[in-house]
Amino acid sequence: MRVRHAFLFAAAVLSLPAFFAQVAVPSGAPAVHDIRPGPGVTATKMLSAYAPRLANTPGDTTVYVLEGQEPGATVFVAGGTHGNEIAGIMAAIVLVEHARVRKGRLIVVPHANNSAITDVDPERPGPPFITLTTASGERRFRYGSRRTRLDQQGAPDPKIYRHPNPKADETLPGTEARNLNRAYPGAAGGTLTERMAFGIMQLLTAEQVSVAFDFHEAGPESRLAWMVVANPKNLATAAAALFDLEAQGLVMKLERSSETFRGLSHREWGDATKAQAYLFETPSPSMVNDTTGVDFVNDPKLPLSKRVGGQLATFAAVLEAYNRDAPPASRVALLDLPAMTVVEKAGVGAFLR
Ligand SMILES: [Zn+2]
Repeated sequence: MRVRHAFLFAAAVLSLPAFFAQVAVPSGAPAVHDIRPGPGVTATKMLSAYAPRLANTPGDTTVYVLEGQEPGATVFVAGGTHGNEIAGIMAAIVLVEHARVRKGRLIVVPHANNSAITDVDPERPGPPFITLTTASGERRFRYGSRRTRLDQQGAPDPKIYRHPNPKADETLPGTEARNLNRAYPGAAGGTLTERMAFGIMQLLTAEQVSVAFDFHEAGPESRLAWMVVANPKNLATAAAALFDLEAQGLVMKLERSSETFRGLSHREWGDATKAQAYLFETPSPSMVNDTTGVDFVNDPKLPLSKRVGGQLATFAAVLEAYNRDAPPASRVALLDLPAMTVVEKAGVGAFLR
């Protein structure tokens, strides 16, 4: 009891609201998606297995595990951190439906923010679904918003959002409190966005993830387009991967995580866990201020196939660079990752069931 009192006293003095406030998050069933596990999937579970206070909330989401026969490193992929960045979501779904693992383990969360995927982005409205042609016919995949739904967050937006990390120097609009990629490491009983972030951090730790990826998209004219952002501890591995990619004809830029822009996956995953942490950005024609007339799938310059191919090629290149430095027991070998040009030519649907 004495320890507990001391703890509460320290909490009151330090005022750590993110960790001790218990936000009442609306309950509800998580959104269900048409994802058809492929030959590599050995188990599925919910993210709430790692963070019980996410259970029965719209932020809970499916976790797909692809376990190889040979032991090796565990790799984690998040798609759908932002529900309107569909190349990231579809690249993650291709891994679930098409990839196999020979050595090590792959864990995929295609809809990291499963609340955002059910909303329409007020700034860049899109269709509720995109439609892709696959071997089994036309299939629909949800198209969502950048942020957690306001009515599911459990708290109103603050006037401004400041990350609780003392090193943070960014002052953001209050809506960014609902941006999963500003919320890490999150809080067990916080807002819905903080609970999702906390769940992913818990997964990374519990599963001893060695390499972690967060798949995003940016505006075609954005500085971030065709970018890899890497935690400083794995910057050299990222640079080696980009060198290999350039030889394959894909030029990606490289940036290191900021010390003072906090709450982002590549920064907080890499700092708080043993995982190397990477974020990818492909350019999306729909990430513009006026989305009228934009073809979300078959844009002539930036078709979804090219962007998904780019995500998967960069993923494969980073894993190859990681393997070169890893001891044999800690390597990973994935099978059936299609090359960028192959995805571009065949279309994303060719790699879905
Ligand atoms: Zn994003």
